Amino acid sequence: MKIWHHAMAPTISIIEFEAGDDLPERFSVHNSLAFAMYGTEIEPMILLNGAIRDEEWFTNDHLDAIIAHELGHIRCNTENEERAEHYGMALLIDGDRIPAYKLLNDRGVCPQNMLVTPLESWTI
Ligand SMILES: [Zn+2]
Repeated sequence: MKIWHHAMAPTISIIEFEAGDDLPERFSVHNSLAFAMYGTEIEPMILLNGAIRDEEWFTNDHLDAIIAHELGHIRCNTENEERAEHYGMALLIDGDRIPAYKLLNDRGVCPQNMLVTPLESWTI
């Protein structure tokens, strides 16, 4: 297991599980590669299944897209997938991470090519 920080969120720990680590059950229950933990009682963090790095399709743009989406859950304090995705897209556009933005746009959690609310206009 390693703990690191992404430039988009220097204060939020990313806990990456590596080969041989015991994976939290939630990864298999939701068949997810990453999830966010947040709330009033805990330090917000993102848990990431590091096995994703071995996938043939994996690029750093995918990593940016995943982290941005999870930051959406944390920053908006929401379980809502569309809202987390929308915030993630705003974050990626703001950081000029356009290939990663396109990955989220193309997967269609939000309507494709929707007008993304600029990051500075989010009141959260
Ligand atoms: Zn989500």
